[in-house]
Order: sequence, then structure tokens, then C-alpha cells
Amino acid sequence: MTERSDALIVFGATGDLAKRQIFPALHEIARRGKLGMPVVGVARSEWDDETLRNYARESIERFAPHGLDTKGFADLAASLCFVQGEYQDVETYRGLRKRLHGVRHPLAYLAVPPTVFTNVIDGLTEAGLNEGGRVVVEKPFGRDLESAQRLNEAVVRAFGESAVFRIDHFMGKEPVLDLLVFRFDNLILEPIWNRHYIANVQITLAEDFGVEGRGKFFEEVGALRDVVQNHLLELVALVGMEPPPAPDGRAIRDEKVKLLRAVRSLDPSDVVRGQYASYRREDGVAPDSEVETFVAARAYVDNWRWEGVPFYLRAGKRLGRTCTQVLVEFHQSAHPVFRDPDAPQPHPNHFLFRLKPDEGMSLAVQIKQAGDRLISAPVDLDYAYDDYRESIDETAYERLIEDAIDGVTTLFARADAIEEAWRIVTPILEGPPPVQIYEDGSWGPTAADELIGGAWHDHP
Ligand code: NDP
Repeated sequence: MTERSDALIVFGATGDLAKRQIFPALHEIARRGKLGMPVVGVARSEWDDETLRNYARESIERFAPHGLDTKGFADLAASLCFVQGEYQDVETYRGLRKRLHGVRHPLAYLAVPPTVFTNVIDGLTEAGLNEGGRVVVEKPFGRDLESAQRLNEAVVRAFGESAVFRIDHFMGKEPVLDLLVFRFDNLILEPIWNRHYIANVQITLAEDFGVEGRGKFFEEVGALRDVVQNHLLELVALVGMEPPPAPDGRAIRDEKVKLLRAVRSLDPSDVVRGQYASYRREDGVAPDSEVETFVAARAYVDNWRWEGVPFYLRAGKRLGRTCTQVLVEFHQSAHPVFRDPDAPQPHPNHFLFRLKPDEGMSLAVQIKQAGDRLISAPVDLDYAYDDYRESIDETAYERLIEDAIDGVTTLFARADAIEEAWRIVTPILEGPPPVQIYEDGSWGPTAADELIGGAWHDHP
């Protein structure tokens, strides 16, 4: 089905995600004149159309990147209505069906807690709203391989895979997409992008803040589920995948899943779990919590291109700095004739892809030192995206919601990729190594440095 959706249903319209992301994104789409469909909020709260419109207005005033646009908001408000009901009650869906009279391709957005996902899928099916419809399922997609498989089975049975949009805002971010395009539109990379030239890959997702009042949520999740199983493995796939034959959802997702299939399930001896020192004093956190706020892992991709190349993954809270980056390090040159014998060995050539902040990339090379001696010195050839192109206003949610409305699946996770990613982390979920406490503001337990042989680049 390639028709544009002709209505949007937001389950959980009274919630936090709707407030922070969904209404601001819909307002932006409306501002560009591209909404043009009814938007029905559904929730248990005793609200009416007017309450929902006021909630949307407040959320846009607070969270829309450019504030409220009068015409854009008027368009959105005119499209908005509210259906009140319990998520497991068939009457809710009958009420919804009436509101959607004449609609053929509704898009249902599940912005509700994961415990409610299957109730909503069943209710939509019972009311026949799955036929010709699409569904956006929020993260987290399962808690482990088995629950992800169960959810996949339920949602695919109801809608069919091509109508399921498993959303993760990380995949709609501009710098993540930059990485994909850079890799596959530059011929010079192809001969060197393999184990013969690349020594290791280091992927970091660091935050200098803690759980920020979401201790209760984090206790249920931990860093492995929160960001490693999804964001970090997504980056592994983008760095490691083969070139897709076409820029479409099927081709790109086929290559991603092929790569993930080659990633060896993590061995607990290749994983360090850490917890920042003040975590157990956070609200909602158990005083003896064993939940990890930091993970470092050494992963391997068992295929021709990557055999033996370690992919080091690192994610954590309350670290030295907030940044997301991918560093691809090449082997040392075999015979560096111009190196200064008295200087420390420089890092070998490497690409650094900065996904956040200072989006851009650099390539570390050696150049001749000034002066009359034939000695080399390191320099970064640097490219900041903002210097070369207009900044992109579109937020990840805006892009992804528009794609879902248009039925474009490219940036959404497919069932097989989700299940491969859970398979990769399963040994750690089942036999987690003990958490090691690290100082707030440090770079995690020292064992994480030992894992990589002390060579994390620069603790950025
Ligand atoms: P909320 O806790 O704000 O819940 C959304 C709505 O669901 C609530 O307004 C409430 O509406 C209803 N609800 C809450 N708890 C229950 C319950 N136990 N049973 C039935 N209904 C309930 O969640 P968020 O908006 O934060 O998140 C929604 C989804 O999006 C979740 O799956 C979350 O993991 C995911 N997500 C959220 C992000 C965020 O920034 N908030 C980021 C990424 C993903 P009512 O009571 O009126 O029915």
C-alpha cells in the first residue's frame, strides 16, 4: 500500500511523548500545509476536544522549535478531536470508528506504555481499523528477544510488516543519515573500508547528566536496553553494512539486517557494566540497585569484511561530556619513516564522525612539521556540517511521522532487525557481569579502558 494515510489516531494523546514531540511535530507539518487530515487523540482521561486542543497549544508553545505559528496551529486545532475510553474496551474503538467515518487508511500511533500495546492492536483489529491502516509502535520494542518476538507476531498479524512503523527517533536524526550517505557515495572509502585497513571501530554515546528524575523508569530499563540494543547497534549496522543497491526501505533494511546477523552475540567477558556513584541516591532508585548506567562492550562482526575487527561500544550517564560519535581507526602505517622518534606515537589515521554536538567529521592524518626537518605531525582535516549547508529545521519526529503518513519505511526498524539486536544482547541480559561503581563525571569504570587496551580515543 503506498497511499498516504488519511487520518492519524494518537493513543496516549494526554501523555508526555505527545506533549514533547508529537504535537510540536504535527504543528510543524501543519505549518508547512502538509497535514490535511483528521487527528484523533485517544486516552482514558475525561477530556473533550477543547481540552485536547488546549493541551496541544501549551505543548507547542513550550516545545515547538520555532514557537507557535498562528495559521499552523489553527490548521492543527481544526483537525483535532478526542475520543475518551479504556484501551481494552471495544466501545472505545467503536467510538473511534464512528469518528473516522469514510477514512480508508488510518495511521495509529501507539504513544502509550508498552503494557498497553497489544490491547490497542487487538482493539483496532476488532474494529477493522487495521485493514488498510498503518501503525507506529514506540520504543522500547520488547524487553528481550522473546517479548519482541511476541509483539512482532501480534502487530504483523494485525497489520502486515509493510504497515508497521517501529519508531526510534535516533534513526531520523540528520547526522545518523549523513553517515549512511557519506559511506556509500564516496568511492575512495570502498577499498579501505575493511579489516585489511581498519583496526577497530569505537562508538560512544555519552551523557554528562544522570537519570534526571526518571529513576523509576531507568530502574526498569538500564543502559543496555535503553541505548545499546537500539542506538549503538544501529550505528554498528551503518558502519558495517554492505552498500544497498537502492535508496529504499527494502534495500537499506536488507543490508542492515544482514550485518546484524553477522554480529556475534555478546560474551559477558567482553562487557563492562558500570553505575555512577550517586545513582543509588536518585529518586525512584533502589538503594541496592544493580542496574547499569554505563556499558562498554567489545563486539565482533563475523563476515569477510570485518573478521577480527573489534567494534568497541560505550554508552553511559554522568560521564565527562555529552557526545555521540563514531571513530573508525586505521592500522598504524607499516614503516613510518618521518615520525619524530622522541615524540609519543601518534594515533593512527582515523575518521571521526561527530553525531552530537558539532555535527561533522574529521580525518586525522600526518603532515610535515614546519621547519627544515623531515618530521611529521598530526592534523585533523575537519568538516563541520553547518559550514557547508543550511541547517536543517526538521526534527527527527517530524521527519519520521511524515514518512509514516506517506508509508515510507526506510527509517523504521524491521521485525528481523529488532530481533537480531535482542539476540546480540541476550547473553548479557541473562548473565550480566556485576556492576562496577564509577565516579560521577569520569569516563566509567577503569575496566572499560582495559577492555579496549587503554585506547579509547581522547575521552572526547
Ligand atoms: P506516559 O506515561 O506519559 O503515558 C502516555 C499516556 O498513556 C498517558 O497520558 C495515559 O493516558 C496513558 N497511560 C499511562 N499509563 C498507563 C497505564 N498503566 N495503562 C493505560 N494507560 C496508561 O508515557 P509517554 O508519553 O512518556 O510515552 C509513551 C510511549 O512512548 C511509551 O511507550 C514510551 O516508552 C515511549 N517513549 C516516550 C518518550 C518520551 O520522551 N516521553 C521517548 C521515547 C519513547 P490516559 O491515562 O489519559 O489514558
